[in-house]
Amino acid sequence: MTTKKIYVTQPYLPPLEEFIPYLEDIWSSKLLTNGGPMHARLERELCDYLDVPEIALFNNGTIALLTALQALRITGEVITTPYSFVATAHSLLWNGIKPVFVDIDPQTLNLDPSKIEAAITPQTTAIMPVHCYGYPCDIELIQKIADNYNLRVIYDAAHAFGVRDSNGSILRHGDLSAISFHATKVFNTFEGGAIICPDPKTKQRINNLKNFGIVDEVTVVAPGINGKMSEVNAAFGLLQLQHIDTVIKLRSKVDKTYREKLKGVSGISLIHNASQEISNHAYFPILVESNYPLSRDELYDKLKRSDIYARRYFYPLISDLPMYRGLASAKPANLPVATLVSKKILCLPIYPTLSIEDVEIIVDIISRG
Ligand SMILES: *Cc1c(COP(=O)(O)O)cnc(C)c1O
Repeated sequence: MTTKKIYVTQPYLPPLEEFIPYLEDIWSSKLLTNGGPMHARLERELCDYLDVPEIALFNNGTIALLTALQALRITGEVITTPYSFVATAHSLLWNGIKPVFVDIDPQTLNLDPSKIEAAITPQTTAIMPVHCYGYPCDIELIQKIADNYNLRVIYDAAHAFGVRDSNGSILRHGDLSAISFHATKVFNTFEGGAIICPDPKTKQRINNLKNFGIVDEVTVVAPGINGKMSEVNAAFGLLQLQHIDTVIKLRSKVDKTYREKLKGVSGISLIHNASQEISNHAYFPILVESNYPLSRDELYDKLKRSDIYARRYFYPLISDLPMYRGLASAKPANLPVATLVSKKILCLPIYPTLSIEDVEIIVDIISRG
């Protein structure tokens, strides 16, 4: 029994005194928002760190997703995954777009590219895949399908900060990628997000849209929204960026310990081979199989009784929620893999300050079954 509560995540906060000089700069400039100097610096530093051509900062990841869809004038139907956080599909509904759910791949838990073509109709305009848990989608195959059918690709890359494959950042793929800097994500600005885009012209359109569509004092070119990141959030991002390599290294140690110690536990499957690409260790998902002595929910409750708060990401499926379940594509029979996985999934606590002793306690509870 641990004496403290262990949650699935805990936000990383650098030493407070390191943040004070940034606040002093803001106080003396009196520039609080609307693309101030901290905002400009964070966009530059993130482009360098993430190795992407252009980035437009947002006040959160959901407004970034909404705006990405507006930027590309997406309408009609969009193919997406039911196995994600609700914001993925909500961003479609909020834009008056019909989500069409396609099942996931049992290995990667991402949209299964082999099932996309069957879901394309004359109304389909785009695909919105998710790099679930920061594991890259089958980027090449998705692009090939998109090219064949003249569809746009917008990645919900909320989990994928800093993830690379052998060709570099996975955030460079598709037409746009939207990312989240929410407190629960690997890189946080309290609340925040961004759109990664390929060229300055697209970024200009996104910048207009995130500022009410305003171009100058007398010119409004689109019905935009207020998606701007404030200077305090941007300043905090600059400070976080100084710590991010340490943060990911500490996460990777937790990941490695879980992996080693859970390897022999029968009935527990690990999803992902970490050596395949540069991971950010955002999540530590396990599958509780039918030969494990407890059901997934029994294990979840057992951990909870020891003050360990694992989470069932992603259960229930988005497609099972009341605003989606009436769609033809939302039927469980159309989504057998996602339906099964959502019943077996459990995300274990992982964050930079989680001690190896605590990881061992968690593994011990799981191993005893
Ligand atoms: C966190 C998250 C979002 C939303 O980001 P916010 O910054 O919280 O608005 C969208 N999609 C996925 C998959 C997420 O995990």
